Amino acid sequence: MYELAQYKLKHNQIDKSRVHLKPEDFLLKSHVFCKTCGYRMSGRYRMYDGVQVGYYQCCKDNNKYDACPDLTGIKADKVNALAWEDCCRVFEAIEQIRDTVRARLEQDVRSFLEHTTGSHQLAQLRQELMGAQQEQAKHAPGSYYYNLVTQDIQTKQESLRKYEEQAAHASTNEQLLDLYQRQVLSFLDFLSVMKGKYREATFKEKRNALTVLGVTVTVSPAGQARPVITQVETDKEWLSLVEVAELTGISPNALSYRAGKGEFATTKRDESRRCTYVHRDELNRFIANLTFKPRHLRDDVETRVEINYSPIFTGVQSSLM
Ligand SMILES: [Zn+2]
Repeated sequence: MYELAQYKLKHNQIDKSRVHLKPEDFLLKSHVFCKTCGYRMSGRYRMYDGVQVGYYQCCKDNNKYDACPDLTGIKADKVNALAWEDCCRVFEAIEQIRDTVRARLEQDVRSFLEHTTGSHQLAQLRQELMGAQQEQAKHAPGSYYYNLVTQDIQTKQESLRKYEEQAAHASTNEQLLDLYQRQVLSFLDFLSVMKGKYREATFKEKRNALTVLGVTVTVSPAGQARPVITQVETDKEWLSLVEVAELTGISPNALSYRAGKGEFATTKRDESRRCTYVHRDELNRFIANLTFKPRHLRDDVETRVEINYSPIFTGVQSSLM
């Protein structure tokens, strides 16, 4: 029941975000979360030397009082590959418990139908209500028995109203259940067809498998580093960003980016119009408390990513450890 509730919740929420240019670049769409704030990460492209690079990006920055302090981002292709590799190991384990999965599915479906449709409860309640109304008619309005039965009728009407509401939802639930069932069954077929060659799965097969496995990928922010020096000691008053990069070990691009965000003041100077300059004191103020995320830590996907599976499959996952 728990899995179904989760499944239902997910299907109400996912895939409402904007359409990506290439879905294949964002295999884990709606399965990937920022560890810091817990929000789902969106797919984004960033341009590097004229090439589009897919990123999963935490975008929880609408409200400045409640914004994610890390706004975690991670290159999509690496996480996609890592997560799929992990799934492949899970498939191999599931092959061995396929019968259990099938039995579990049947059990889930049965208990779901028993709990939500409630059509026999509805019929019974209607009958009881009729009986109570007939009973009420036998007593004088205002009498002790009349009031007692009236109270009972009100309670029953209230329950009836609730049951009718549930019954109205039941058909949606059944459709959802049907979808769930079909996805699990087609996943089991996928396992037998793809046995031993999961890495060749199509994008669609992968997406279906991610849903059935209930994969969630949680991404931690990249590790932070400090500049190699935190104070620049030089007689030169004005330093170009290229010089600053050499002195501090921070890339010129990162420096321009930070300057563009207003983290330190830069200026143009007559000695070279092509360079951007920063004053030594301003630079020292900026680097004194600076932390940044160097590429080797950003790209360290293995340590930044956690992969989890929904309750149906967690037993499988833990048996792998
Ligand atoms: Zn976040």
